[in-house]
Amino acid sequence: MQSAGNSKKSKNRDPMASLRRFIMIMAEKKRLNPQNAIAVFDAILQHSGGKGISDEELAAMFGFSQSEVRKILRILYDNGLAKYRRGRHPETGATRYFWYIDLSSVNVVLVSRKREVVRKLKEKLKYEEENEFYYCPNHPLKKYTFDEAFSLNFQCPKCGHVLEQVDNSARIEILREIIRRLEEEIKEDEAKIRAS
Ligand SMILES: [Zn+2]
Repeated sequence: MQSAGNSKKSKNRDPMASLRRFIMIMAEKKRLNPQNAIAVFDAILQHSGGKGISDEELAAMFGFSQSEVRKILRILYDNGLAKYRRGRHPETGATRYFWYIDLSSVNVVLVSRKREVVRKLKEKLKYEEENEFYYCPNHPLKKYTFDEAFSLNFQCPKCGHVLEQVDNSARIEILREIIRRLEEEIKEDEAKIRAS
């Protein structure tokens, strides 16, 4: 129990792990294979020290279609994770784009992701604080708002049991604690970015 909690905590603190999760979610939203998106991201990361890597090279490296690679690059670019510089094909002289990852901008992206999470958690917290919820002891997974419970005459629609009020104080405490921790992390991250 103790070790599981700790490993989860350290996983959350690993910025690259949370970045990869974010990339996978964005890829899924665009109906792309999340693992392929991670493969492309990692390959660009490895080549970021030199001149970068072109989309043709990325497609050839994994056997992905160029259109898939371009869609993945688009996601990385739109989220400020990847950048490109223009170059020339060594033989044909045609314009090529060489992609690379700027780690300082990646840190900025991570902080803004965390800020977004904090904003959503605060909305959730406000909702929990301002609303009463009801449940049926026989069907505890379903929660009703006050309005819903009122329109049901405070009776479970499935079994008729009287609906009882949910004690959401523990949930509120947990939300407050997560928000507090994230805000602390953001402060630390911002100090690191300023120092770099
Ligand atoms: Zn019930």
